[in-house]
Amino acid sequence: MPAIEQTVRSLLLTELAVGLGVTFKQIFKRKATLNYPYEKGMLSPRFRGEHALRRYPNGEERCIACKLCEAICPAQAITIEAEPREDGSRRTTRYDIDMVKCIYCGFCEEACPVDAIVEGPNFEFAAETREELLYNKEKLLDNGDRWEREIAANLSAEAPYR
Ligand code: SF4
Ligand code: SF4
Repeated sequence: MPAIEQTVRSLLLTELAVGLGVTFKQIFKRKATLNYPYEKGMLSPRFRGEHALRRYPNGEERCIACKLCEAICPAQAITIEAEPREDGSRRTTRYDIDMVKCIYCGFCEEACPVDAIVEGPNFEFAAETREELLYNKEKLLDNGDRWEREIAANLSAEAPYR
């Protein structure tokens, strides 16, 4: 750019005006960012987040201790122990998931014949210690109770594709 043109542009503050014009235009555009954690983006029904163990509407655990999820888990993150109940039904006495080992592949959810173990929509479960990420059955059932409405809606949305 010739020196005279550059001087004129500097004197007229052209660059400043152009820059302010760009800023002004952006004010009226849709925001490209979210004010997380106060705003959250849409999640797919297929999102694989924190694990949960579900119950039937009558409160009974869905899990029948078949151990398919334990067998298929490529990270060997699931540990199950089971015993028959007095009524003959089979239920777990221990259901642990090491969330640090888990690679969130979703195979456990796919393998479960009764939709008991699922990966819910919660992704806000960061912890400060490893021990906090060793989930036991109580924690997983609590997750299931807490997220049942969202999980059921996601499973229903996905049902035609399974
Ligand atoms: S999501 Fe994958 S790695 Fe994690 S517990 Fe389930 S099967 Fe194992
Ligand atoms: S969570 Fe499902 S796959 Fe795993 S042991 Fe229970 S019923 Fe079987």
